[in-house]
This record gives sequence, structure tokens and C-alpha cells, in this order.
Amino acid sequence: MLTGWRNISWTLSLLASRRLSICKSSTFSTALISSPSSIVPRPLSPTQTFSFFTSRLASSSTHCSAPLELQEVLQVLEQLAPLSLAESWDNVGLLVEPSKSRQIKTIMLTNDLTDAVMEEAETLSCDLIISYHPPLFRPIKRLVQKDWKQRLAIRAVEAGIAVFSPHTSWDSMKGGVNDWLVGGLGSGQVSVLSQALGSASHSHKLEFMVRSSEELNAVLEELKACDGGAGLQSSSSRQDSSSIHVSITCSDSALTPSVQTLLRHNTPSQSLSILKLEKPPLPGYGQGRLSVLDHPVTVSTAVQKMKSHLGLVNLRLALGAGRTLESSVCTAAVCAGSGASVLSGVKADLFITGEMSHHEVLDAVAKGTSVILSDHSNSERGFLAVFKERLAVRLPDAVKVVLSKADRDPLEVV
Ligand SMILES: [Zn+2]
Repeated sequence: MLTGWRNISWTLSLLASRRLSICKSSTFSTALISSPSSIVPRPLSPTQTFSFFTSRLASSSTHCSAPLELQEVLQVLEQLAPLSLAESWDNVGLLVEPSKSRQIKTIMLTNDLTDAVMEEAETLSCDLIISYHPPLFRPIKRLVQKDWKQRLAIRAVEAGIAVFSPHTSWDSMKGGVNDWLVGGLGSGQVSVLSQALGSASHSHKLEFMVRSSEELNAVLEELKACDGGAGLQSSSSRQDSSSIHVSITCSDSALTPSVQTLLRHNTPSQSLSILKLEKPPLPGYGQGRLSVLDHPVTVSTAVQKMKSHLGLVNLRLALGAGRTLESSVCTAAVCAGSGASVLSGVKADLFITGEMSHHEVLDAVAKGTSVILSDHSNSERGFLAVFKERLAVRLPDAVKVVLSKADRDPLEVV
């Protein structure tokens, strides 16, 4: 059963917490067209983007050309790819926040934050680095110079540079990294391999009977107190002259006190049933993509198309058992980065990902699936240019967005 459709909070919280400059308000009210009941994060449509351009062009006030505060940029990033889409194991969002308020004039996009990228960011006086991979991932107990990631964190703090990582929220996003990757082979019917689920504040449904309207009101009053009064949702219907069927949904934290409350009442305690509610799927969002190509290509053409799409001279190819370079590719499954776990068990003519282990490639090949590997970050980096454009049109002219030139995959074919 689907639930939580009214409880997905990101849209509302975004609306509530927005604090944007006057000249940008028209942009954001256009962008955030989701009704309060909508659960799907929506990037701007081309029409909405156009209206943004016109609103920016119409306004020539200095307000529009002013840099933004960090929190304002974070709100734009949240709108482009809500952090709630990220995997639970990930470490996304603002990772380094300078103590002194600093206006954001230059933002650098990079796949990885390395010493070379930090050097570049400092040279360009960047105020914010958006690193696709989170440079801080595991918990750290000290900040010392001998660890290269800690060294970079210290450097960012000392330079007053904020660091943000979107990582798997961009992976999951409709129109994000994986849609961009699969688009390299041309158009097709695209589906998500690992479906993203929405969040739901109400995790359980309790159903029970009461004998009268008076008892119903009394029980509901007690139940409201269990959930702080705010989260309880209830419905009731009279079954016959002597009983009313009641259904309530509640949060995880309110479940035990709600049950305790109902057990104190005779009829509810004897008729109580508890249902665990599923989170709703977010169509189009999730990890990995499968495309049934509108125009099938040969393996050889697929390689050429992906080289062009990723901007690479070399790719690695494993031909599926019984396949040749002229074999037809009708279906392709992709996963940016390290895709073996997402691609495992998927039936397709071709897998495209950054990296897979030797044995994972052998497994795919044995099933007749060819594999294209680009090396990890090469399967993601090209999306930064797409993201740069999406971000830049939502920021004032005074905020410059640049792609790192020092960022590169550590592996190369020699
Ligand atoms: Zn990655």
C-alpha cells in the first residue's frame, strides 16, 4: 500500500525555508510548482527555464547581479537534486562550512577533490567547491596532515572555502548522471534499475473498532497526544449501529505509545490490527538505467558513441559470449561509477559502467552481455558540464560556475 503521499516533506520544507533575494523570487516560484501533495522532485522544464531567463532579463537591478550567501546556493542545489534522494550509506550535502559568512562568487565543480583541484580552487579564489564524490566519507577522529583527505579538509577550512557533495542524489535524480550516461547511446525507452523510494513520515497503520462516537473522540484525543498532536491522520466509518471502524496512521516513534493507548480501551484492544506501510516509489528516480534503444546499434557503434559522449580516446570492451563487434545492441544497462551491484542480474545486450571486477565482467560475458568500462570517474565527469549549465541559469550573473581543469581520473591507458 502506498502512503506518505501527503507527508513527503522536502517540497514543503524547501518552500518554508527559502530565503531568496527579491529578484530571484519569480524564478523559484516558477521552479517550485509542485503542489503540497506532490512528492516528486521536479527540475525546471524548458518552459520554466525560459521564464527564468525572461525574468532575469527583465530585471536589471543590482540585486540580481549580487552574489549569494552560501545557504541560498544550497537551496538552489537542493532544488536541482534533493539530498533525500541520496543512498542511506552516503555522506552528501555540506561537508565543510566556513565560520565566517562569505558571499559565493565563484563555484568550482569537480568529480573528486584532490590536491591539484584544491590548488586550482585557491588560485581562482573559489568560495565553494562542489565535489561529486564526498571528500569526507568515513567518520574521522582527528584532523592531521598525514592523511590526504584530512589535509584537504584543513586546507578548505583555512582558506574559508565551503565544500559540498551531491553524489548519489545526482545518481538517483531523474535527468541526472545515469540518464545522461544512457543518453550516450541515443534515445530509448528508459527505466530505472534500482527504484528510489520516497520518504514517509507515517510508517504504520492501526485499525480498530469503537462502540460509539463518544468513545471515538475520547480515543482520538488520547492518540493525538502520542504523536504530539501534529502527525496523526485518522478516518472512521460506521459498520453498523453498534460499531465504528477506525483507521489511523502514525510515525515509528508514535507506534508504541499509540498501541499502549488502544490497549487501555476494551473494544479497540480486542479489534486492533497493525499494518506496516511501504514507502512510495518515485517513478524515474533511482540508481542505474535500462534503455531499450529506439535505434539498435552494433557493439562497435556503441563503443564509438560512448567514446564521443564521454570525451574519451579509449574504452575497455569485453565482448559477450558468442558476440562480435557487429552484434546488435538493442538493450543497454548503465550505472555511473562502480556499477556491478546495480547491474547484477540485469538482462541486457550491453553493460556500461566505470568499473567492474574481473569476476564480475566474466559473469556478464558468460551470459552473453558485452561490457564497456570507462574507469570510474570517466563515467561521471561529463555530467558536470550538464550540471554546470543547469546551475548557472539559476544563479545571478555575479556567481561564476567553473569546471575544474585539474580534475581527472587517476587511471589512464599508457
Ligand atoms: Zn562514483
